Amino acid sequence: MTAALPDHIEAASPHVMNTYGRLPIALSHGQGCRVWDVNGKSYLDALGGIAVNTVGHNHPQLVAALRDQVGKIIHSSNYYHVPLQETLAAKLVELSGLENVFFCSTGLEANEAALKLARKFGHDKGIERPEIVVYEKAFHGRSIATLSATGNPKVQAGFGPLVEGFIRVPINNIGELKAATEGNPNVVAVFFEAIQGEGGVYPMDSDYLQQVRALCDERDWLLMIDEVQCGMGRTGKWFAHQWAGIKPDVMPLAKGLGSGVPIGAVVAGPRAAHIFAPGNHGTTFGGNPLAMRAGVETIRIMEEEGLLANAVMVGDHLRTALTRELGGLPGFKEIRGRGLMLGIELARPCGALVGRAAENGLLISVTADTVIRMVPSLIMTMAEADEVVAILAPLIKQLLQEGA
Ligand SMILES: *Cc1c(COP(=O)(O)O)cnc(C)c1O
Repeated sequence: MTAALPDHIEAASPHVMNTYGRLPIALSHGQGCRVWDVNGKSYLDALGGIAVNTVGHNHPQLVAALRDQVGKIIHSSNYYHVPLQETLAAKLVELSGLENVFFCSTGLEANEAALKLARKFGHDKGIERPEIVVYEKAFHGRSIATLSATGNPKVQAGFGPLVEGFIRVPINNIGELKAATEGNPNVVAVFFEAIQGEGGVYPMDSDYLQQVRALCDERDWLLMIDEVQCGMGRTGKWFAHQWAGIKPDVMPLAKGLGSGVPIGAVVAGPRAAHIFAPGNHGTTFGGNPLAMRAGVETIRIMEEEGLLANAVMVGDHLRTALTRELGGLPGFKEIRGRGLMLGIELARPCGALVGRAAENGLLISVTADTVIRMVPSLIMTMAEADEVVAILAPLIKQLLQEGA
């Protein structure tokens, strides 16, 4: 572990379990796309809390809505009706064209619920040992089932035995999907991210999405699209799969849905909307009024401020500017993604850039060793995008020259 980490990372604090290699920075507050650390140093935030802070930091309307909600009721339990669940569910149904919603608190929980839906879908039609197709480089979370579905040996190492019932295939290859499931009557679902996030920002092609949709219809499988990272407007559509003009049967959401208040959701279409009955699934925190209010207000602000269009405009600008700066440089491979979900792949590991960017007042992340990832708030301006490029491009050029 230590060898792979850049040298600016300190040991974890003694009382917090050592699960993250953290930068030696503690943030105290933020405003829009800018954050300040406890020493007063400011940073442009191109990470957005890992695709979470949809409407930026300290958005006045979000803050006012949450303050109001905290003063009314934070949590009531799912033993009672929570009217704000109906409000947010109706909105998600409208935006997705699907049918109903289960609320939870995180991405892995949303995916866990999706996996349970797929298994019960199978059992309901007499399949005793249902199998779910998952993908190389996928990331679905760190519970035992979701890490088993994840296609990254580093996430799985040390936690076996893994959950059974997964078939793994490469992305964007319909022939491989057909070959891997050929004659297998136990397949119940295909499960993937519309744009793989942690795996290195790899988008599923539109024609592949359409082909998988058709195959799922033909074979009576559920199409389950993990939109935890790429959803909620990040790519310029409410959900990234909508670029392909298809609908999934099951769609887990989380990250950006509550602008920072923990929230997860599974949105289900007609084929999956009535699989669970009372007693099949649940959660104590899921759907609590505070989280629901955050979701309702996030979407309201997104609509009012035109943040989908902004994600496309600023994302395209960022991509064009970065391509202009980096295109053709030895060691630069490509820029992938859509809207404000961008990955810059280099031909060499670039984890060191995270600390160097922070020293220069810019927050980014590096995923899959060689991919610089940017998933900022959807309120980022053109001027801020220019600032990102002005800080980042020279750092990338410098890294590419070192030991080249
Ligand atoms: C982050 C992420 C998850 C896990 O979400 P948590 O809230 O960390 O459990 C699942 N799927 C995708 C695509 C993600 O990006």
